Amino acid sequence: MGVDSPVRCHIDLDAHGKHFGHVAVPRSSNSAGWSSLRVPIVSIANGRGPSALVIGGVHGDEPEGQVAALNLARETAVGDVNGQLIVIPCLSMEAARAYTRLWPSGADLNRSFPGSPDGSIDEQLADFVARSLIPRVDAVIDMHSGGRGSMHLPWAEMHLVENPEQRREMADAMLAWNTDYCVVYIDIAGNGVLTEEAERQGKIVVATELGGGGHVTAATHRIADGGLRNVLRHIGVLTGQVTTREAAGRPPARILAAIEVDDYVFAPETGLFEAVVDLGQPVSTGDPLGRMHFLERPDRPGEVVHARADGIVCVVRAIAATTQGDCVAVVGREWDRSTLYGMDTA
Ligand SMILES: [Zn+2]
Repeated sequence: MGVDSPVRCHIDLDAHGKHFGHVAVPRSSNSAGWSSLRVPIVSIANGRGPSALVIGGVHGDEPEGQVAALNLARETAVGDVNGQLIVIPCLSMEAARAYTRLWPSGADLNRSFPGSPDGSIDEQLADFVARSLIPRVDAVIDMHSGGRGSMHLPWAEMHLVENPEQRREMADAMLAWNTDYCVVYIDIAGNGVLTEEAERQGKIVVATELGGGGHVTAATHRIADGGLRNVLRHIGVLTGQVTTREAAGRPPARILAAIEVDDYVFAPETGLFEAVVDLGQPVSTGDPLGRMHFLERPDRPGEVVHARADGIVCVVRAIAATTQGDCVAVVGREWDRSTLYGMDTA
């Protein structure tokens, strides 16, 4: 760990075997002048081999990845690992306790990267992850979902990174999640995300959006759990046979690209959003996606929100109460496999 960071890791990440511990970030509060924010961490190391960092709970209202990471950490034995598996089931502990996206301070940890050892607590934690954890591993898996605010088709996802070799490895790893859909995306609402930092460091980075809307179904848990383990087998960190959709008799994953600003649709006014499309529904440019309603104006017709691209509806807002500028839907443009592998970053 960086000697110039106040953050301490209370397990030896160089040690062989399975170790449970925590990362501690110093803090001071009204009820405890001397305190630390503890983030549980698990290391399972077994000789030389590939390494992976698995992270859940960057956002506190996205439990899918947290549960999958907890199951993985508990159920994986040293003999199941080649190399090293580092698991942080929940990176934003206080947000998860409150079941909110943001920290109680208002920080969005997924806007705090690469962080700073001299910054706020979230920035200190981000800096520790960026300088002491990500550099140790070959692959980074960061599991998200729509949280309370939105519902996503369950999918694995990636950014279009410029390095063609890294891009190919990330596409292979993304497809190994075996979700029905895989999505290529852009950061539409700010920089400072964890995956961007891991990609900058040249890692194989796989993220997910595994549902959302404030609830989790058993089917979503199965997708999180099974996909995570299959990606780790694909990378070679976990022993065992890699499974494919084809071998399971399922059709190939559908690839969606949401890499244009027009693919993301925002509320033109504050009001109640009524979705008129369902996840997975094909739409064409100009088709209605939903309507904004205005409680103070029963006489006013609903304001129709239209698709600005042809594609598949892959995100729909889950909370009707909507503020001007909130994303209400995302339309992904369907790509074939060759476009994914030959994709142009221009
Ligand atoms: Zn998230």
